[in-house]
Amino acid sequence: MMKIGIFSNPGSASTRVSNALKSKIKAEHLVLDNDDPDILITVGGDGTLLSAFHHYEKQLAKIRFVGIHTGHLGFYTDWRDYEVDELIDSLAHDNGQSVSYPLLDILIEYSDGKKQSMLALNESTLKKLTGTMLANVYIKDQLFELFRGDGLCVSTPTGSTAYNKSAGGAVVSSELDVVQVSEIASINNRVFRTLGSPIIISPQEWVRIEPVELNENLMTCDQKVVENRQIKSVTYRISKQRIAFAQYRHTQFWKRVSESFIGVKPVD
Ligand code: NAP
Repeated sequence: MMKIGIFSNPGSASTRVSNALKSKIKAEHLVLDNDDPDILITVGGDGTLLSAFHHYEKQLAKIRFVGIHTGHLGFYTDWRDYEVDELIDSLAHDNGQSVSYPLLDILIEYSDGKKQSMLALNESTLKKLTGTMLANVYIKDQLFELFRGDGLCVSTPTGSTAYNKSAGGAVVSSELDVVQVSEIASINNRVFRTLGSPIIISPQEWVRIEPVELNENLMTCDQKVVENRQIKSVTYRISKQRIAFAQYRHTQFWKRVSESFIGVKPVD
């Protein structure tokens, strides 16, 4: 029997939806299990889905996610709060349909030699708490540039519409297995020079960032923050793991981008 978990943000609208979900799941004789779910329904926004992703990070191989948005439609959230009955019907007729997206593999090496692996759904950024970040950037172990500026943002295709977009990165189709590196306010003048545009690397390539000053670095992985640790290097590549979503309906990626950012209507 398929086990269903619910991960809700604490807001009143989300709590109402999650309570309605719980009683309808019981009424359909589906099994509620937040510890070991096959399907994990998040209730809130894209931020809630990001939190759920990290909460269930160790169980990714087994879980399919479903996102209900209690506000506008999101990038990871295909369902609206008033569609609970339709969703329950889809769950009752589930036949394992799914779609999966790439994740970002992060390997941090600290100055004491310790290493830490992390996984991002949207992106990871590397910045300096105060002042300009100075860092050597390597692609496949080959020095690419000396970066000076606020920081660098390394994102997945589905994360390309988040922080990456604010940093001037390209929106990347969720059907591509690539990693994008975008600059956050780089300094470019006659003395300092970076490429000045985002780059996109293939699954066979990796990027390593080595801050020149080891103190006061700030590294993020989605909403998680690593600070007050001396980071020697961070290596980014496409992960072997992916996130899966139960695909009961298909919202075309570019339609979602257009509706979320432009809201264009055809002219008759
Ligand atoms: P938040 O600062 O409360 O919200 C960030 C916003 O980004 C929310 O509106 C969220 O949508 C939206 N969002 C999240 N993932 C997205 C995606 N893949 N595509 C498009 N929009 C997306 O933080 P949060 O909710 O905890 O989310 C963390 C994310 O915030 C980070 O992963 C990063 O991408 C983003 N962020 C962006 C900036 C920036 O653009 N300058 C700065 C810091 C962090 P919902 O309203 O549906 O939750």
